[in-house]
Formats: sequence, C-alpha cells, structure tokens
Amino acid sequence: MFRALLSRLKEGCRTGAFPPGKPNLPPDFRGRPKLAADTTAEDVDAMKAVCPVSGALGFEEGKACLDMGRCIFCGRCAEACSKVVFTDEYRLGVFRREDLVVRAGEETYEPPVQTDPEALALKGSLALREVSAGGCAACELDANVLGTPAWDMARFGISFVASPRHADAIYLTGPVSENMQTALDKTYAAVPEPKFLIAAGACAISGGLYAQGHLPAATSLYIPGCPPHPATTLEALIRFTRGTIWPL
Ligand code: SF4
Ligand code: SF4
Repeated sequence: MFRALLSRLKEGCRTGAFPPGKPNLPPDFRGRPKLAADTTAEDVDAMKAVCPVSGALGFEEGKACLDMGRCIFCGRCAEACSKVVFTDEYRLGVFRREDLVVRAGEETYEPPVQTDPEALALKGSLALREVSAGGCAACELDANVLGTPAWDMARFGISFVASPRHADAIYLTGPVSENMQTALDKTYAAVPEPKFLIAAGACAISGGLYAQGHLPAATSLYIPGCPPHPATTLEALIRFTRGTIWPL
C-alpha cells in the first residue's frame, strides 16, 4: 500500500498543460485547411480525382471550397495539388453547418463565439450522453480519452453520463446506421429539455464515407475530423457553453 502511494506521488500530475497551454499536436496533424486564392476549377478537379469522399470539394461562385463536414482529413488533395495546405489550427468546432465550408482566399480565421442563450445558460456544466451510431470506434476512442487523467475534461465541468435523463446533450458519433436509428431517436427523446445534439466526426455530420441516417434534431455543435483530435473536441465543448474563445 505504502509503495503504491509512493509510486503515485513520484508520478505527479499527469494532466497535460492544455488548456490553457497549447495542445501537444503531432507533427503531421491536419487542422483547418487553407485554399489559395488562385485555386482554379482545374485544381479542384485534380483534388476531387483523389478525394475518397463525395462532395468534400467544390467550386462555387468563382471560389474553390472544402467542406470540413465531409472531409476525412486524409491529406490526399494536398499531395495532389499545392493550392491546399492543412494548417495546425485545431479549433474546428462550429455552431452552424455552413461554417464548416472553407473558401479559397481566406486570410484569417477565428472560431465562432457562442450566442445561443440556452447553451450559455449551462455556464460550463455539460453532461453528455454518447451515442455510437455505427461508427468505426475511432471517434468514440478519442472522445473517451478526454475522461482520462491526461485530458481530465471534468475539471471544466464536462462529463459523459450513463443515462440520457442526466444529460444536457447527445454526443453523436457514426453515420447513424439503420440498426441504430431507433436507439438514437429513443435516447434523444429521453434527454430533458432544453437539449442539444452534438455531431462529432465526419460520419455524424454528413455520413462521411457512408450513407447517413436520420438525425433526430437540428445539430447545435459540429466537431469535424475523422476522428476529431481530443484537443479539437475539448476546445469545442468548452466554447459551446461560454461566450468566449480560448484563452478565456
Ligand atoms: S483531405 Fe478531405 S478534401 Fe482532401 S482528399 Fe482527403 S477527404 Fe478529400
Ligand atoms: S468520422 Fe471517421 S473516425 Fe469517426 S466514426 Fe466515422 S470513420 Fe470512424
């Protein structure tokens, strides 16, 4: 017993410095994409030819665009065409679906600030019920690590709960397969009002590589990625209930 306590003391605090320190991102991390202002329709065609996802790339109103809600961040487009680069901007969570679309020539980026009074009324306390609706398990695993000492999201008042009746929001992962549709609808219905639907990962946002089932309600927070990096998820969840951008 004494040795076990001594060993714990020697280990010290295992929680990372993020936040408020910078997240420790891997060197090959792919964050918010950036498209050059002079990206042509031909460039987009070259990128589309290697993109495994339908509808992630497009050319609208004379501008190339990349939909982070469909993108699986595989990086193939950047290998095929120098007009797109993936930055280390990890703050990818947004409150409106259209804000996931990145347009060519974007100079600066700041994540959106929460203005929904019902979300702000939570004041940082956010209980989530995870529904894994046919995903590959990577989104679920990277959400799971947020509860470990390394990330410790409970220090911000955010936690996963067992019952939807104790939850403020459904944390949805996966494209909503046919066999999970009823379970998702029933779980969402069991969450007390006011309630929110959070879509995490390309599958939950758009179906990603798969056909998407029916979502039980409008989505209140979109967290793109395949899977979203834990830093992306934690920052988005913190920003969801506060009217500020990190650092607070
Ligand atoms: S990074 Fe996204 S847009 Fe680029 S090829 Fe992969 S899925 Fe398509
Ligand atoms: S978004 Fe990617 S990581 Fe997440 S469940 Fe779908 S395929 Fe898996």
